[in-house]
Amino acid sequence: MRYDVDLFVIGGGSGGVRAARIAATHGAKVMLAEEYRMGGTCVIRGCVPKKLMVYASQYHEHFEDAAGFGWTVGPVRFDWPAFIAAKDREIARLEAAYAGNLDRAGVETVAQRAVVTGPNSVQLADGRTVTAGRILIATGARPSTDETLPGRDLAISSNEVFHLAEQPKRIVIAGGGYIAVEFAGVFAGLGSEVTLVYRGPKILRGFDEDVRDHLMAEYAKKGIRLVMNETFTGIEQGAGGLTVRFRNGHAPVEADQVLMAIGRRPNTAGLGLETAGVALGVNGEVIVDAASGTNAPTIFAVGDVTDRVSLTPVAIREGHAFADTVYGGKAWQADHGLIPTAVFSEPEIGTVGLSEQEAVAAGGAVDIYRAVFRPMKHTLSGRDTRMLMKLVVDGTTDRVLGVHLCGPDAGEMIQLAGIAVKMKATKADFDATMAVHPTAAEELVTMRTPSLRHPAA
Ligand code: FAD
Repeated sequence: MRYDVDLFVIGGGSGGVRAARIAATHGAKVMLAEEYRMGGTCVIRGCVPKKLMVYASQYHEHFEDAAGFGWTVGPVRFDWPAFIAAKDREIARLEAAYAGNLDRAGVETVAQRAVVTGPNSVQLADGRTVTAGRILIATGARPSTDETLPGRDLAISSNEVFHLAEQPKRIVIAGGGYIAVEFAGVFAGLGSEVTLVYRGPKILRGFDEDVRDHLMAEYAKKGIRLVMNETFTGIEQGAGGLTVRFRNGHAPVEADQVLMAIGRRPNTAGLGLETAGVALGVNGEVIVDAASGTNAPTIFAVGDVTDRVSLTPVAIREGHAFADTVYGGKAWQADHGLIPTAVFSEPEIGTVGLSEQEAVAAGGAVDIYRAVFRPMKHTLSGRDTRMLMKLVVDGTTDRVLGVHLCGPDAGEMIQLAGIAVKMKATKADFDATMAVHPTAAEELVTMRTPSLRHPAA
């Protein structure tokens, strides 16, 4: 049977765009549907605009720190609408670049919603049916909401936070994951009064405990109010703004905006996957094998919709591997092991590999190398901030199992440390590498004695 296209991709985000482009360059006839804006979450309302906001928020401290180096900085003022307009221009430029790349690769794009109507058919919002040899689900994820919370419609999610007409003077952020933590840092840097509310005892569950404690201490120094072990009972609109009420005894807080960043859910609702018998997991994620195949032989899925590791580079690699394997005659699979990641908090976090707790739980002997120090820049700026660097090392083989950093440029550093860890470098390999002086990163190769030894269990 002849199909209209070889491959129909639903979703023009990180994973879908890469898969479509590579499949087309391998000679496949590809159509891609995007219902919102080309580029997806990362480009339009995720990584990219977020990082631009992080940059904007850092100037405040740069101006203050300059005084320690002899500079006199005049009165400073942040113009939120000017920044948002500049950010929007950059996002529009990137969106056009994504569309242009697809076009040049020969992918036909349709700017509308698509749903699956069978193993080899898709229906567009305009009613048109397109048949396809294969269908790739790359629909990403959306912010979770608490449907039972009174006043939930008064809160915003990470979708709206990029488009506020005014900078909130006071913001309450719910959540303890990296998105909540990053926006807390952004708004504090921009001068907003920030309250971060999380139901658990510490932010950033799953990260190394030292990193979690370190960032909480740094956030407290910046005046971010950390309200842990707490949940909302409701949000109300009052004369002075929004009032957030809590379950576990904290006094109500007034705010101009309430940001819910309590997790993300795979975008599979109403997608018609049941018409092709595609199996979903408990969170609505598409269940896939290592080659991104579903239980339906013609349907594949990549990126956040599969709820494996929800990061842009991962979605891109899954999409690329799928396209090379199926259309390029080069079979390979995305490797989900030892993924270096950053949290663009202020200060930043960079991390790869096992936390101390995970390494110890694995049962072998573990050596911990740990340094906490004042970054050189702040000897003159006088800013009270500390950098944390930590290596988790296998006490038997000397292999570096994890690197955990919290401080300036940690995101940049962890990309490079990630190569060493992926190559199975030992602590002796780190030590044999000459230091780059004067840097903070040199601490990674100069920590001589373990600060702690965990014996084998
Ligand atoms: P997406 O990029 O979400 O793309 C899915 C696309 O499908 C969307 O454009 C959507 O409109 C479209 N779509 C959905 N349903 C349909 C349909 N039925 N028909 C047509 N189109 C449809 N990752 C990092 O690596 N680093 C970061 O710093 C980072 N920061 C982030 C910050 C925020 C605030 C958020 C929300 C996410 C961040 N992420 C970050 C995660 C990253 O954005 C995602 O992992 C990545 O975008 C996933 O790509 P994807 O292709 O799976 O889905």
